[in-house]
Amino acid sequence: MSSGSTPALSAFSAVSTANLQPEAVCLAKLDKIYLDLLHATTSQIKQKDELIESFKQSDFVQSGNSLHSARYETLICEICSSIVIRKGADSTWTETQFELPLPRQNKNVDHTQKESVSGFWSIIDMYTFENVGFTHAVDGIKYLTCADCEFGPIGYVDSSTKLCLLAPVRLKVKEE
Ligand SMILES: [Zn+2]
Repeated sequence: MSSGSTPALSAFSAVSTANLQPEAVCLAKLDKIYLDLLHATTSQIKQKDELIESFKQSDFVQSGNSLHSARYETLICEICSSIVIRKGADSTWTETQFELPLPRQNKNVDHTQKESVSGFWSIIDMYTFENVGFTHAVDGIKYLTCADCEFGPIGYVDSSTKLCLLAPVRLKVKEE
């Protein structure tokens, strides 16, 4: 259509709106509001989907370390193979860093030898574990051990949140 026809079209449009009954104008406006709302809701749902997708993406990015997928696997004691936590058990991955005492302490050293461990499964309820032992508090911190052979620490209890933080680096993934 040529640009010359535009004024005529607008004029026609203006006239036809003016000729509508007030109820019809109202309905037309309601229709528009309804469509706008529908559009807004749809775009919000799309935004939400995109957010979820981006969270999933970042989760995959952080999963460079294969241990991160342990939540979907059963973790066992690396010494006696006793099951510590079953796959699918309720736990949340946290990048927390913590100085965990070494499982084997050098007898000739008078202080507790520790290593920095980062990445823990955070567990709210101790009954989430299949088997786990707790040490007496050492310097105010309780540690998690294998319930069967007492190998550990395999994690610790956060003294402020009371969450159990399980270190997958101290455990083995059970071969299915
Ligand atoms: Zn064990």
